Amino acid sequence: MGIKCPICGAPMEADSCGYCGYVGKKEPEMTADANNIPAQQILQPVQMQAQTNFANPSLAGAGIMPGVSRKSKTVALLLCIFLGGLGAHKFYVGKIGMGIVYLCTVGLFGVGWLIDLILIISGNYQDEFGLPLRQ
Ligand SMILES: [Zn+2]
Repeated sequence: MGIKCPICGAPMEADSCGYCGYVGKKEPEMTADANNIPAQQILQPVQMQAQTNFANPSLAGAGIMPGVSRKSKTVALLLCIFLGGLGAHKFYVGKIGMGIVYLCTVGLFGVGWLIDLILIISGNYQDEFGLPLRQ
């Protein structure tokens, strides 16, 4: 779809977010009428909705930050160092498929393990939604 969640930045599935549970309203069809509406009027309700969702205590309690994974960089790093050959860090960030591959190949014969270690340390490692791990 290519639409990103306004709350957490994860890619939206249909009109809901699999990451934080945000349910967005369907984008209005781009018709000739829509082109006549000033951009401000289209953008404003979306921004207000996002702020309302931010204030939602259940989201705050879940530790959801916009554009940042719920998964900790420190935990991922420790799992990668000690159990990376078993794919533990892959399972941790929700990449179950890759975790199983790592488990069967001892971290892609150590190569994937080493690359992941570098990615995590450099802050370029992403979770299953493509979000960077939180500090
Ligand atoms: Zn979301």
